[in-house]
Amino acid sequence: MSIPEFDPAYGRAVTIADGIARLTANNPSPFTYFGTNGYLVGGEQLIIIDPGPDLAGGLDTWLDIIGGRKVHAIAITHTHIDHSPMAHRLKAAIGAPIAAFGPHRPARPLFEGEINPFAESADMALIPDIVLQDGDTLAAGGIVLEAIHTPGHTANHLAFALQDTPYLFCGDHIMGWSTTIVAPPDGAMGDYMASLEKLLERAESIYLPGHGDIIADARNVVRATRSHRRMREKAILERLAAGDETIDEIVQVIYRTTDPKLHGAAGLSVLAHLEDLVERGRVDTDGPPMLANRYRLPV
Ligand SMILES: [Zn+2]
Repeated sequence: MSIPEFDPAYGRAVTIADGIARLTANNPSPFTYFGTNGYLVGGEQLIIIDPGPDLAGGLDTWLDIIGGRKVHAIAITHTHIDHSPMAHRLKAAIGAPIAAFGPHRPARPLFEGEINPFAESADMALIPDIVLQDGDTLAAGGIVLEAIHTPGHTANHLAFALQDTPYLFCGDHIMGWSTTIVAPPDGAMGDYMASLEKLLERAESIYLPGHGDIIADARNVVRATRSHRRMREKAILERLAAGDETIDEIVQVIYRTTDPKLHGAAGLSVLAHLEDLVERGRVDTDGPPMLANRYRLPV
């Protein structure tokens, strides 16, 4: 896949639309693209979405851009360390409350002896001052943001719709440049697919993602994302029908054109599909679905 152009404009607020500006953190990586996007929503009264990682100098940049304006809330899409840790510093500096779905937690309880490979990517310290459930709203001046619970990438993932506009802040549910990581135990494929359907039932058509540029044809991108995941699921079922039993065997075939360095991540994605397929009774395995299991089609 070719990487689209994106100007991160580090250290500057980029105007996206009337009352929406983007500040991209200087944390480029294979997992964050050019960096994590934070957003300022409103005018003299603001809500900030995802102030980003705790980078040196990052707080000063935020304070400069906010100027003397009142921040009503610091809204968090999800508790990954590239999205939420600056919220702690920002709250201490300006006194605005942190609004999020809840503390970080895996999508399901850990199995006995299971080690969570994503433990270090979570901001475990984040405890919201304002707990947002699906449909709850935040207001500042004339603007209203509606929280939409969109689990899948993480269990506590929220998207935010800017009321009476076509804009939706989609966090990491849809990325502007790559496929979202959905992997157990923090993520869950069944939840991810259900959240895609939930977004398709809504009217918003322009998405502002946590990484990458504005997504102008968002509804088509959501449909394409759904098709891509369904295609992967079909490919996995075909490999099981052909006699593959392990995640390694499946990855060797369906990710044969992918850089072998990424096969570990691919294995976790296949596991996410298998976990969902086992839950739906489409695939059998012995014991809880894990990386080293053998999988088969039910007879
Ligand atoms: Zn994330």
